[in-house]
Amino acid sequence: MIKITDLPEYAAHEAVLRIEDKETGLRGFIAIHNTNRGPAVGGTRFWYYKNEEEALKDALRLSRAMTYKCAATDLPYGGGKAVLMAPKDQAASHTFKNEKYLQSYARRLELLDGHFFTGEDVGMDEKDIGVLARNSSSIIGRPTIGGLPSPYAASSVFESMRAALTHAYGSDSFVGRTVAIKGLGNVGLELAQMLTKEGAEIIGADVNPEKVAAAQRLLLNCKIVPSHLIHKQKVDIYSPCALGGDLTATVIASLQCSIVCGSANNQLATPKDASRLFARGILYVPDYVANAGGLITVVDELQSGGYDKKRVERNIMQIRETVLHILSESKKKKVSESIIADALAERRFLTTHQ
Ligand code: NAD
Repeated sequence: MIKITDLPEYAAHEAVLRIEDKETGLRGFIAIHNTNRGPAVGGTRFWYYKNEEEALKDALRLSRAMTYKCAATDLPYGGGKAVLMAPKDQAASHTFKNEKYLQSYARRLELLDGHFFTGEDVGMDEKDIGVLARNSSSIIGRPTIGGLPSPYAASSVFESMRAALTHAYGSDSFVGRTVAIKGLGNVGLELAQMLTKEGAEIIGADVNPEKVAAAQRLLLNCKIVPSHLIHKQKVDIYSPCALGGDLTATVIASLQCSIVCGSANNQLATPKDASRLFARGILYVPDYVANAGGLITVVDELQSGGYDKKRVERNIMQIRETVLHILSESKKKKVSESIIADALAERRFLTTHQ
């Protein structure tokens, strides 16, 4: 039996809702971390968890992270997250998460009456989001409105890199710069194309041979290296665009770059790794700032007047200023960029009541 109040992640949450519907098999949690700046936003994850404690902890960790991401990017929203417990057998997931199941979840979202908006995350696809959107007014990020978020995530990483180059070298030009990209998926490949256009040389890696082939087809002069060697390349920027937990103590010790800036969520294996990067003199753009373009486009439809591509682009450009601020404060105060970014977010969400 979980004693929820004993969980350290629980303390700062405004509300946690346990949801269950025996008829459809729906079971999970909706965690609302902080709504001082506006309604909570965060994806819905459909994933196998060994037990409810594991699912709840994931919801709490992810919703807290959303608050930081929204506040650091100066978006008028708070952090939330929903996790739905999937069956262990992945093959059964599809039939399990059927229309009735999704309708049942949508009904529970309606109970939150506009205090939580959610969309796609791991385990949910466009079709699921379509069903939810027909049954709940709390669904955001439909591709029919703002298009796919990955080009916008790539764009915010690109702008963050520009800011880091300015801070490091006094010029934001990519000409003559080399960028190593780990993960040539939706974001990584888009980013590689943007960088190539600006004159950067790309070294890429992906575990999926189809992604490597696509990169070689679309990019001129892209050098491909095995995945386990990508972080060891002598480059200006190392860009983790695959999965989280990439920046371990061992990886950090063997980096040969001056900047780390990528789209992957939760890049640091542990919070201490931010200090390890700092101690090595490597500039680190905190992941939740660099990849915020994805969130910026997804939440834009909540603004009065609806989705506005120009505003999305303006907000993404603004990330450049945020990154410059974080990097210069980090240098001035001699603490890691993550500490500065977290403090910036906390100043905003702990003091604002709108
Ligand atoms: P994706 O699945 O399209 O791409 C990830 C790529 O990484 C895949 O091609 C995969 O084969 C590759 N990969 C996995 N493990 C690898 C390894 N060990 N070495 C090399 N390559 C490996 O996902 P995406 O949408 O491009 O997202 C990339 C990252 O950015 C994820 O961490 C995601 O959470 C984050 N992110 C994405 C968005 C978005 O809008 N798509 C927004 C914000 C953050």
